[in-house]
Formats: sequence, structure tokens, C-alpha cells
Amino acid sequence: MASFLGEELVRVMRAVITGGAGFVGSHLVDAALGRGWSVVVVDDLSSGFMDNITRLQDEPRFEFIEADICGKWTVNGQVDLVLNFASPASPQKFLERPLETLEVGATGMRNVAEMAIAKGARLIQASTSEVYGEPLVHPQHEEYWGNVNPIGPRSVYDESKRYAEALLGAYHRLGLLDVGVVRIFNTYGPRQHATDGRVVPNFVHQALSGTPLTLYGTGAQTRSFCYVGDLVRGILALADLRGEFGPVNLGSQEEITVLELARIVGDLTGTQVHLAYSELPADDPTQRKPDISRAQAILDWKPEVNLREGLLKTIEWCSANALPTRAV
Ligand code: UDP
Repeated sequence: MASFLGEELVRVMRAVITGGAGFVGSHLVDAALGRGWSVVVVDDLSSGFMDNITRLQDEPRFEFIEADICGKWTVNGQVDLVLNFASPASPQKFLERPLETLEVGATGMRNVAEMAIAKGARLIQASTSEVYGEPLVHPQHEEYWGNVNPIGPRSVYDESKRYAEALLGAYHRLGLLDVGVVRIFNTYGPRQHATDGRVVPNFVHQALSGTPLTLYGTGAQTRSFCYVGDLVRGILALADLRGEFGPVNLGSQEEITVLELARIVGDLTGTQVHLAYSELPADDPTQRKPDISRAQAILDWKPEVNLREGLLKTIEWCSANALPTRAV
């Protein structure tokens, strides 16, 4: 694919984004189209939403393939970059679909990697802070090997992502694939639907609908919440850095307890917060915060949107999309 820019013949980048109908994936689609690229989304709509991409149906640089990456699917033509974001990512969703979650990191990952190799494309894999499990090192840096319970309920996601990293590491060492791995810490923002199950959309939708905020455990566990726009910028920075494997942590430095988050959401929505306590899920990490010195050094990346600012944008989106959107 080619176009003219002034006198020069410019080859238009074509990216395949698996999971492009999902939360992070659909923001990547917007950013890629914003860079002038062509985009092919591959998504089976098992946890993504058609609503996240329908506005693009008349965009000539956009194409949608409804397919499960674990099955048979084909992308015709040139592909320069593959962003693999197909997987359930909310604990609620991956616990509901344990076998599919494991499969997506194994068969799905292999299918995506083989496609990238066949096309000669760079591949960026969405990995996760969950590879660190219940961390014994704080904040978590990329050299830390993690502390995952391999037979606990969460292992279906954690080990799936760890296996995917192992597989990609092997392809990389064999010199077969140009691949980069981002380890994504807690991310929030518009397009996390009311049915998502993660803490930010739960609290925001609950506060807006005047229902109690569901607090798991005492709320003393910590997380560091990164705005999706910042995350997308970091992912594309690694995509641009051909030859770099990483892995690279991407996440916020603002660590807070879940109870503090409930208070902030109450404050920003102008609602009186009532809490509904329930049991802490098994193996729910006690604390989590990324060491982002590698991202700063190699990508010149750090988050720019602070938590209150990002939450206000999220609240605005949730207010306009308060009803659970059809989970296709
Ligand atoms: N959590 C909570 N209430 C909710 C959803 C989550 O208290 O309605 C807690 C959860 O137990 C965890 C933290 O918030 O300690 C972040 O959970 P989330 O599902 O967003 O992502 P995780 O960090 O567990 O992957």
C-alpha cells in the first residue's frame, strides 16, 4: 500500500490489532488511524464490544475480521505491525472463562506470532503486571521473576501471559520474530463498560447509579492506575523501537489503596459513598506499583495524566454510557 506525500512515495503502515474491539485495543485502533495507518481488527467479540468500533465502519483504512485468534483466520496483504491485545483482561472475565483464557496465551499467541513471522511484521504483545503475581519486590521491575500461584484461580491469566512471554522469548532468541513485550499495569478510562468488572469502572458506574461501592477485602490493597491514553502512547513507542524486546513495564507511579480510590471516586462524582464489603478474591495481590525506569530510559515514556484528571474523563464517559452496552 502506498500514497504520495509531497514529492515522496510513502508506504502506508498497515497494522493488525487483535482484540481491537476491546478496551485498550480500541484506543490503539484510534491512535493507529490517527497516525495515518491502515488497521485490521481481529476480534471474536467475546469480551470486546462492537460499539467500540462501529463508528469506524465507513473509514476506508479500517477493516474488521470477526474471528477467535485460537481458530482459523487469515489477514490478506501487507502487514507491518501486529499488536496482540486479544484476551480477557478483567479478573471477573478471565475467571468466568478459564480454559479460553489459557488457550488464548498458548494457541492464540502462537497463531498470531506465526502470522507476524509470515508477514515479516513486528509484533507487540500485551503482557501484564500479573506476571509478578503477589510481588515480593516493590515496586516491581522487569528483572523480578514474580511470585505466581500456578494452581490458584488467577493462574489461568497469569500463566497464560507468562507462557506467551516464554514463547515470544524463544522466537526472539531464534531470530525468527521482531517482537516487543509490554507489561501493562492497572489501566482505566473511557470504554470500560459497566459490565467490565474491574475496580475503576465498577466504582464509577456504582457511584453514578447511587448504589454502594463493592469493596473486596478491607480495601488496604494497593494499585497504581494509569490512564489509557498514556498507556497507548507507551505501547506505540515500543512498537516504533524495532528490534527491542523489552519487556517494558507501563503503568502509573501514583499508588493508592482501593479504599482511597473509593473515596476519590465519591469525591469526583459528588456522591456520598456507601461501601458494600465482600471477600477478597483468592490470590488478589496485596500491592502493585511498576518501576518504570526502563520505559523512561528506552521509550522516554512516563504517564502525563494524573489520577483525578483521568478519573474525571472516565466519569464523563461513564455518565454518557451508564447502561451496560450489549456484550456481543
Ligand atoms: N476490587 C474491589 N471492588 C471491585 C473490583 C475490584 O475492591 O468492585 C479490588 C480487587 O480486589 C483488587 C483491586 O480492586 O484488589 C483491583 O481490581 P481489578 O479487578 O480492577 O484489577 P486487578 O488489579 O485485580 O487485576
